[in-house]
Amino acid sequence: MSNTEVIEPAFQSQRFSCPVCGELHDQVWLNLYAEQVSNPAGVPLRIEGAGLEMLKKNSQFPPEVLEQKVEYWNKVNSGEVFLDRWASVTTDLFVAGMELSVCRGCMAVQIWAGGQLVQR
Ligand SMILES: [Zn+2]
Repeated sequence: MSNTEVIEPAFQSQRFSCPVCGELHDQVWLNLYAEQVSNPAGVPLRIEGAGLEMLKKNSQFPPEVLEQKVEYWNKVNSGEVFLDRWASVTTDLFVAGMELSVCRGCMAVQIWAGGQLVQR
């Protein structure tokens, strides 16, 4: 069933038209907490280009795990922002003034900073 009503995304709204799927859906709002990047280089990790080609040939992982990893990095490298289960962290570093809204229909993530939707 398609809903043709359009409600522009708005800060603190519980329901609006999703910029990704275009449908009117309930939104789940998430607070953000931060953790310092902890890999040896101290900068965000990306596996792309030659590194991704090497990963694709890595025989340490079962094919289905390798496929998941490659799919993950392809999403990240394409600029997508999405929720992913990762190791649990304990932090009290709260990101004030920034929130995420998640569409209950398609799970697309929107970034809000200063109460404004961050356009990507
Ligand atoms: Zn959606």
